[in-house]
Amino acid sequence: MATRRVEMDGQNLDFDHGAQFLTAHGTLFRATLQATHAQPWPDETRQVGFPRMSSIPRALAQGLDLLVSHEVVEIVGEPGAWRLRHVPVRARQRVLRPEQAPTEEGPFEAVILAVPAPQAAALLAGPAPHLSAVVAEVRMAPCWTLMTAFEERLPLPDSMRMPGGVITWAARDSSKPGRDADRECWVVQAGPEWSREHLEDEAPEVASALFAAFAALAGGGLPQPLHVAAHRWRYALVETPLGAPCLWDPALKLGAAGDWCIAARAEAAVDSGAAMAAVLAGSAGPGGG
Ligand SMILES: Cc1cc2nc3c(=O)[nH]c(=O)nc-3n(C[C@H](O)[C@H](O)[C@H](O)COP(=O)(O)OP(=O)(O)OC[C@H]3O[C@@H](n4cnc5c(N)ncnc54)[C@H](O)[C@@H]3O)c2cc1C
Repeated sequence: MATRRVEMDGQNLDFDHGAQFLTAHGTLFRATLQATHAQPWPDETRQVGFPRMSSIPRALAQGLDLLVSHEVVEIVGEPGAWRLRHVPVRARQRVLRPEQAPTEEGPFEAVILAVPAPQAAALLAGPAPHLSAVVAEVRMAPCWTLMTAFEERLPLPDSMRMPGGVITWAARDSSKPGRDADRECWVVQAGPEWSREHLEDEAPEVASALFAAFAALAGGGLPQPLHVAAHRWRYALVETPLGAPCLWDPALKLGAAGDWCIAARAEAAVDSGAAMAAVLAGSAGPGGG
């Protein structure tokens, strides 16, 4: 649930370049969307963050002690006294800064990983190889995403879903509630097959290819864009979930949660987190810390 902001001639272009809209099947997520002031788009069945998708995680994070733009590279220590080694990353590119030695944080009684399955599997390989092996069975597909903006309005509907092609989704992001409707901002997603095939391509190359595919979709011609960029989500959509709401080893006091436990949507991440919290609260015992 992310929003990319681009400054152009003193104006902002906003793109929800991750999750496009949210659907609530259960009461917990419905309540979460309500509490974070999500709004319908284009009808009550789909909700979006207001005034941008990142407003939802921002609202949920209020009051939490967070350290962002740091990547945990290793879990060391022992059960009941885990320490996390982390390094700063340049937020946008997620490039590690090798010049910096990892900082250590801890000791922590328990550690819960809430990161994509392949990244959780890598971190668990040292302290909990049996958990790592289970998580490694989860499959997640990538998603190359094009962000583009125009001076004039395109003669296209606000959203289009096209399963099976190079482009599987395109949406006029600026048609969502609370966005600047005068900005013609589009988010265009490549399908999992195309994204896999082009996974290691350079972003400018991918942006050109997806822009051409979008132009073809629009009937062959698009006006000169104000902005064209591509973002690679390496672990976007869960293809094979874990099939359990969360993972927890009570002896090691290590756990993992995320959408990948249940299904490919944000509601699954919330449900998995709630399941993890319940397990953790139960394992602490009545009145436990
Ligand atoms: C392109 C795209 C489109 C989507 N569309 C939809 C949609 O329309 N509707 C919907 O419901 N869902 C959609 N989803 C899925 C939705 O975004 C996920 O279900 C949800 O974000 C999962 O939440 P999470 O907390 O489990 O993981 P994430 O949102 O992936 O959060 C994990 C976080 O951990 C961080 N991280 C990873 N490794 C480390 C590390 N070693 N150290 C520190 N931090 C780390 C990551 O940077 C990330 O911020 C989409 C996802 C993508 C990528």
